[in-house]
Amino acid sequence: MRQSRLFTHTSKNVPTDADSVNAKLLTQAGFVHQEMAGVYSWLPLGLRVLHKVENIIRDELDKLGAQEILMSALQPKENWDTTGRWDSVDVLFKIPSQTGKVYGLGPTHEEIVTPLVKTFLNSYKDLPIAVYQIQSKFRDELRAKSGVLRGREFGMKDLYSFHASTEDLDTYYSKVLETYLTIFSRCGLNAKVVEASGGSFSKKFSHEFQVLTPAGEDKILTSETGTFAQNTEIATLKEGDKNPENGEKLELKTGIEVGNIFDLGTKFSDAFDVAFTDEKGERKTAVMGCYGIGTTRLVGTIVEASHDDKGMIWPVSVAPFHVHLVGLKSKDAAVQSRIDSTAKEMYDGLWSEGVEVLWDDREGVSPGEKFADADLIGLPLRLVVSEKTLKEDSVEWKARNESAAKLVKTQDVIEQIKGMMK
Ligand code: ATP
Ligand code: MG
Repeated sequence: MRQSRLFTHTSKNVPTDADSVNAKLLTQAGFVHQEMAGVYSWLPLGLRVLHKVENIIRDELDKLGAQEILMSALQPKENWDTTGRWDSVDVLFKIPSQTGKVYGLGPTHEEIVTPLVKTFLNSYKDLPIAVYQIQSKFRDELRAKSGVLRGREFGMKDLYSFHASTEDLDTYYSKVLETYLTIFSRCGLNAKVVEASGGSFSKKFSHEFQVLTPAGEDKILTSETGTFAQNTEIATLKEGDKNPENGEKLELKTGIEVGNIFDLGTKFSDAFDVAFTDEKGERKTAVMGCYGIGTTRLVGTIVEASHDDKGMIWPVSVAPFHVHLVGLKSKDAAVQSRIDSTAKEMYDGLWSEGVEVLWDDREGVSPGEKFADADLIGLPLRLVVSEKTLKEDSVEWKARNESAAKLVKTQDVIEQIKGMMK
């Protein structure tokens, strides 16, 4: 993409209510635009990150045999009456219709997925069933805050699984837990698994996935390495105790909850009478698990976990583009034409190799401004073509997460980038 064509611009203005690093940087770099408190539009650069995060999730869940669907965001009140949650879920938006009916605007989808799966479930041979969706969720949060970390409209991946036995659910649950760690690590994050109390569901167990950053809302007991952690709200251990996983000292940290998994038991399948015929011909109730990841929160979490005073630092796997190619100006027309043709060749050559390039081809923008924008936007690699680099048949190569720049021969650039992306 040519940056001169990008309809968004960077801005030095800090949003007045930007109470967090992610809100400030994502807005200044033109990744998102706040429409009102807790509600954001996703712009070209931000949407590319969000899509990459979503596709990592799809890739990993498809490996688990889960099937992607898309359920309705507008939900019938009757279903919420069936589970008794119409009045008890305080964040549920209730939408009156001119027909006199009232609808729920989906904060979660147990009330839709459970009767949906019931429609197709007859025999134990149909089980297990695992379906997921990636969709906007709506929650009437009392306080929207921390940019995209806690919104009233936000992206979520929600997966629901149905099983013939608790043993089968337990096995699947463990697999999802492992898969979640893979997803977060592919997004460049180190997530800790927290044993949680389980919120409003009456269940055996649930786990949260916490990324430790100062921006987090939750207080977590954990140690440097390993995945073990406890939320202080429920902790049986205390600061200074030994981590049962590896013997290290437990410290108090703040974390952002990026995912949550629950053993639902038969709470929802009882409510909607989701039964199947077992091997002996007897009717049995299916057991369920549900598994969420906040996709938009995940993008904000990556920013919180990976930035410096100049801007964001995207991991290759979710960066909006891999390379920021910057062409500088020369007063000499012949040199200028060589700079332009070298940059154009590099741009085309990289794209043809699957390397995604944002080319800063803007006229009338100073080198200082171009570099500041590149740092703010935070693509993993910056390449600069200038009069100086052309003298060496080279381009200047600077990784966003390193301070030193070096010259790399123009002809070697593509091979070296392919190495970086492995
Ligand atoms: P939290 O404890 O942060 O309020 P939750 O326990 O209510 O979240 P779930 O209902 O399990 O969350 O939702 C699944 C995931 O969706 C969460 O782990 C989180 O990553 C994300 N999420 C939940 N609420 C919000 C929100 N208001 N804004 C953005 N993401 C959210
Ligand atoms: Mg929670």
